[in-house]
Amino acid sequence: MKVSRDILSLTPYLPGKPIAEAKREFGLDRVFKLASNENPMGPSPAALKAIEAELAEIHRYPDAAAFAMVQAYSKLLNVPANEIAFGNGSNELIDLLIRIYCEPGDAIATSQAAFIAYKICAQAARVRTVETPLTKDGAFDLDALKKAVENDSRIRLVFIANPNNPTGTYVSRDKLDAFLAACATREILVVLDEAYYEFVRAKDYASGIELRGRYPNIVVLRTMSKVYGLAALRVGFAIASPQVIDLINRVRNPFNVSSLAQAAAVAALADQEHVKRVCQLTWQGLDFLMREFKAAGLPFYPSQGNFLLVDCQADSEKLFNALLRKGVIVRPVKNYGLPTFLRISVGLEEENLAVIEALKSALGEKH
Ligand SMILES: *Cc1c(COP(=O)(O)O)cnc(C)c1O
Repeated sequence: MKVSRDILSLTPYLPGKPIAEAKREFGLDRVFKLASNENPMGPSPAALKAIEAELAEIHRYPDAAAFAMVQAYSKLLNVPANEIAFGNGSNELIDLLIRIYCEPGDAIATSQAAFIAYKICAQAARVRTVETPLTKDGAFDLDALKKAVENDSRIRLVFIANPNNPTGTYVSRDKLDAFLAACATREILVVLDEAYYEFVRAKDYASGIELRGRYPNIVVLRTMSKVYGLAALRVGFAIASPQVIDLINRVRNPFNVSSLAQAAAVAALADQEHVKRVCQLTWQGLDFLMREFKAAGLPFYPSQGNFLLVDCQADSEKLFNALLRKGVIVRPVKNYGLPTFLRISVGLEEENLAVIEALKSALGEKH
């Protein structure tokens, strides 16, 4: 059968190595996974209770409109329900937006070393990805993106991860504002992927939720996979104009979010105390890791997420394997064009200590 070259040349998304696989391969009893920016505390206990209660109805299809979940999110964000869509993780929403707005031969624009899902979804839809280089601080270069948009009339969507994964960097309110103003006069949607929104501490950060009043061409993406600790259940949200939401609802599969996921999300959204606890733990862990890397003389990008991108100044694939043998899974980011960097997710205190110990010992062995 004939298959398009775009499809044949796709490289599948590279997930973090599962704990069970590392245990099996290396005969380890204990493995710490700091590779997928997951919440090490897990979700609110109320979410687990809600899943249990929902099990009795598992033979029924889920609510296709996810009424309770959308209402809960609408209340939390103070955004009307008809400006909210949900996806099987925000990943599905990225895929849907590209399918909705781009024809084959059109393009999306984003940065180098941006979340790789944008590029994979675009290629699968026969859509080009225009990438601008990072600034020297490892951030999205919005001036370069503005020029890219002006120079390529087939760019339909711009993806800005704010904060970005894997760099952990962010764009400030002023820079974002200027970029949005430049895009407002064009037929371009700006997708602000805010998967790590809750972890941001920078004072000059602005969410797309605050800016969308002035710039209706914004789509904000949020997820239940990170601070809410529900990565396995696959729930993401898009906040956009009713027109965009209506199109997403036409294209998405019915029942794209399961009944267990909907029930868990409602309960997790109601437990904002848990969110605060997760943020506190994350910030402590992040500050610890940054202090340790500073002391070790390893450069890193200050992070607004729940992870840190550190330049180990050594082949990251080899380091990754050395750490694996010591029972710590981290993420090499060669596939983002950063061959000496490791992305380390913030874990529990003992996990953060373990990764520092393992890294020191692995780097020591090398020299
Ligand atoms: C983790 C992450 C997501 C979330 O993906 P889900 O499909 O919602 O699990 C989205 N964007 C970025 C930048 C991420 O790092």
